[in-house]
Amino acid sequence: MENLVQELAAWPRERVEALIAQAQPHDVDAAIAREERSVADLAALLSPHARPRLETMAHEAQRLTRWHFGRTIGLYAPIYLSNVCAADCLYCGFATHSGNKERRITLEPDAIRAECKSLSAHGFENVLLLTGEAPNVATIDYLVEAVSIANEYFSSVSIEMYAMDLEQYTRLCEAGLEGVTLYMETYDRETYIRVHQAGVKQDYEHRLNALERAGQAGTWKLNLGVLLGLFDWRVDALWMALHARYLQKHCWRSAVAISFPRLRHAPQRFEIPAPVSDADLVHMMLAMRLFLPEAGMVVSTRESAEFRDRLIPLGVTFMSAGSSTRPGGYATCGEETLEQFEIEDSRPPEEVARVIAAAGYDPVWKDFDRAFHV
Ligand code: SF4
Repeated sequence: MENLVQELAAWPRERVEALIAQAQPHDVDAAIAREERSVADLAALLSPHARPRLETMAHEAQRLTRWHFGRTIGLYAPIYLSNVCAADCLYCGFATHSGNKERRITLEPDAIRAECKSLSAHGFENVLLLTGEAPNVATIDYLVEAVSIANEYFSSVSIEMYAMDLEQYTRLCEAGLEGVTLYMETYDRETYIRVHQAGVKQDYEHRLNALERAGQAGTWKLNLGVLLGLFDWRVDALWMALHARYLQKHCWRSAVAISFPRLRHAPQRFEIPAPVSDADLVHMMLAMRLFLPEAGMVVSTRESAEFRDRLIPLGVTFMSAGSSTRPGGYATCGEETLEQFEIEDSRPPEEVARVIAAAGYDPVWKDFDRAFHV
C-alpha cells in the first residue's frame, strides 16, 4: 500500500500546475455537474476559469454541506497553554527569533483550570489546547495532565502542537484526547524549508506523517490546513486535498476536517510571499467542499467578523469564537503575555452564536461527532 509521501510524490508541482493551467471552462462545468469528483475535476474547480462560476459552486457547496452536516455549525475556542517555542518559523509571533519581547510563560495546572473554567462558563464544550514547539517545557507528562484537566470541563479536547510520535499521541489519547490539529503550512518542500529555520518542525516528512500517526493512536478528529499566503494557494489546496483524502481512506475511524488559516499580518522580518484575497479564499473553500463533501471545514477568528459571517452558508462546519491567542488570555494573565497573532473577529462567543442562528444555522456548543464514536 502506498504511503502519503509516495502518494504526493506522484503529484509534483509541475504536474499540478499544468493540470490547473490546462483546465477549460467546460471542464469546470463538468466538474460541478459530477457526483464524485476526480483530481482533474478538483484542478478545474481551482482554476481561474472557475472564478466566474463561484455562484454555481456555492449552490452545490451549500447542498452538499446540508446533506452531510445539516444546518449546524460547531463552536470551539483555543486555550494557549504556552508561548515558549524553540522553532523559528518566519511568519510566527512565537518564533524564537521573532524579536518579540513580551512575556513567555507556560501555564501551571491551576492557571489551566482557571482558563477552562472561564471558557466553560460561556458554554463551550469543545476546546483546542495549543503550545509552541517546546517539548522540554510542554513535556508529554505536562500535556497529559493538561488534557486530563481540560477533560473535566469539556466534552471534547483537541490539541494543536508540535508533531509527535505514535507513543506520545497514544498517551494523550489515553488521557482523553479526541482530536489533533496540525497544519502542514505548505506542502511545497522548497518553501517549507525556507520558512522553517529551526526546530523539529524543519523535518518535512515527520510533520507530513504526523496526522496519520495521530489517527493510528486513536484520535477521532484530524484537522489539517495550509497557512495561506506562503505559497500558490491553488497548488497547495490540491496537495492538501490529496492529504485529506488519504487520511479519510487510511484513518477511516477519524473525522477529517480542513482549516483555512490565512496570514493577514506577518512579523516585521517576513513579507507574505503569496497573499490570498477574500475571493481566493472563498474560491478555495468551495472547491474543497465539492471535492471533499464529507470533510469538516473550520474558520477561525483570524478572519474579520464581516467576512466570517459571509462564509457561514458556504460550507463552514466549525468556527472559533471569543478567542485569545496568548496563554492566560481568558482568566489569568490578561494582555501581558506574548500573543501568537492578532485576532480579527473579537466578538464574544454569544454574539457569534446569535449571528449563526440569525443566518438559519444551529450553533452547536457540544461536539456532535462524539455521538458517532464506536
Ligand atoms: S508556528 Fe508553531 S512551531 Fe512555528 S514558531 Fe510558531 S509556535 Fe513555534
